[in-house]
Amino acid sequence: MAGEDPKELLFLCALQNAVRHGGVPQAGAVIGMVMGAHPELRSRAKEVSALAKEAIADVAALSPEARVTTLQERAPGMFAALSEKHEHKKVLPDLEGSQNGVVMRFAPNPSGPLHIGHARAAALNDAYVKQCGGRYILRIEDTDPKRVDPEAYETVKEDIRWLGLGITDIVTQSERLPIYYDLCRQLIERDGAYVCTCDNEHFKELKQAKTACPCRDQPVEKNLELWQKMLDHGFHEGEVSVRIKTDLDNPDPAMRDFPAFRILDAPPHPKVKAHVYPLMNFSVVADDHLLGVTHVIRGKDHIANTRRQRYIYDHMGWKIPVYRHYGRMGIEGVVLSTSQMRLGINEGTYTGWDDIHLGTLRALARRGISPEAVKNAMLAIGIGDTDISFSWDNLYAENRKIVDPTANRYFFVPDPVEVKIEGAPDHTAHALLHPGDAARGSRIMEFTGQVLLPKGELVPGTSMVRLKDLFNVKIAWDGGIPLFSYGGESLADARAAKAHIIQWLPAQATVPCTLLTQEGEMKGACEPAVKSELGKVVQFERVGFVKIDAVDASGVKAYFTHK
Ligand code: GLU
Repeated sequence: MAGEDPKELLFLCALQNAVRHGGVPQAGAVIGMVMGAHPELRSRAKEVSALAKEAIADVAALSPEARVTTLQERAPGMFAALSEKHEHKKVLPDLEGSQNGVVMRFAPNPSGPLHIGHARAAALNDAYVKQCGGRYILRIEDTDPKRVDPEAYETVKEDIRWLGLGITDIVTQSERLPIYYDLCRQLIERDGAYVCTCDNEHFKELKQAKTACPCRDQPVEKNLELWQKMLDHGFHEGEVSVRIKTDLDNPDPAMRDFPAFRILDAPPHPKVKAHVYPLMNFSVVADDHLLGVTHVIRGKDHIANTRRQRYIYDHMGWKIPVYRHYGRMGIEGVVLSTSQMRLGINEGTYTGWDDIHLGTLRALARRGISPEAVKNAMLAIGIGDTDISFSWDNLYAENRKIVDPTANRYFFVPDPVEVKIEGAPDHTAHALLHPGDAARGSRIMEFTGQVLLPKGELVPGTSMVRLKDLFNVKIAWDGGIPLFSYGGESLADARAAKAHIIQWLPAQATVPCTLLTQEGEMKGACEPAVKSELGKVVQFERVGFVKIDAVDASGVKAYFTHK
């Protein structure tokens, strides 16, 4: 959104709303959206409300055409968001209360790069914001210094840029500690929380027995005093916590008076000097409320947290967002645990966060999976609450739709052997760069007698192979030694002999190529023109799509993407 001037914000919001819905919006909808994204304006509600009326009048004065061009000029991002709406239109089911736009958030912990598991929340929330219009907040949840990797602040943002999320606001929780402290005081004043100095084990026993601990009935003044003492370094780690008053009879012991704040003496936080930290349930509620989050889409593993969080909303008298909890998603075949990844990198088992054995987004990128494919695969999985296992094949199918039309085709000969073909005339092969797009041109390969062939195709007993885009080759076996000779150009002969159509390279024009797969590496050779495809996905014919990762004097290094 251009600028931070409230009048401008209100005008653009009203304008976008008018272009989307074809009429002039209600003041409430516009104010709600602007305040949601800019909570600092809440204290100026009167002024904002007056400005909203002016902004709406300004929009009403414009013709429908002028509204479109004004939005296009003054807020191209907001204009683009309107057409993106159609892109995913029917993909996701409607969310209640989303008619006037939504404010949603993606809230990762900065403990390492994002992985495929994060991509579901990231993509679903993103798609809803695009579908309904509104704001998409990236909230970095870094209030547990034990789980913060200082580098992850940047890596998470890079991963989000790669995914292409329509983030409109970025919020870092460690910068908001005073806000949480102030809300905690308010919650204590409302008698919704108390400062508990019980020994942890003792508290657990009482909790199991549905019995209140002695601190629970302290007067508010005493709680406020103890809270101040916490902030003033009057306690050490483990001696005290702030607990939310819930229902001690709740059948689930985990709901009973759960903690909201604690003290950590160590480790130091990389961004702020602090010792009193909110626990996730508190900071999540505080920010969902203050940032005006209307809808929360997260995994079923958060259902218990949602139940806990409701207690805080109730104590504070706040409106609860709309929640959706999607089912669990088992992901096999890659490492996802941050600690396991870090350990493996430190021990040299993995080359880095983008090692292709890992499930990080950067590993997928390295293998040639496009961000659109990741998002589309996640939207196809959707928000259903059934537990599923993630299908790599579906992700690959989405990726294939994207790379197949663009990837140039080349020959790669795995485990090559150089052979001489007797009796063949010199020949120039023209192989299309793309079979569906002749206009892209051809690769020209000069056959002058010697070729590289894949060893795996030369199984004893094979009598004929067809070199793709060239001609047939007869093979005679002399005591286990193959002898190669020209077999003519007839495709019918090749078919009759059930000849495999194989890749080949003119021996005089090849480049060494190492193809890395999750199972191991394959040494081979490829066409020299592959060197010009650095960073791109190409198809090695009959092998699969590969991403050209590195090119140097020693040759080409490529990662296998998928068939
Ligand atoms: N930071 C939390 C997590 O990554 C998300 C919190 C939430 O969705 O409410 O699990």
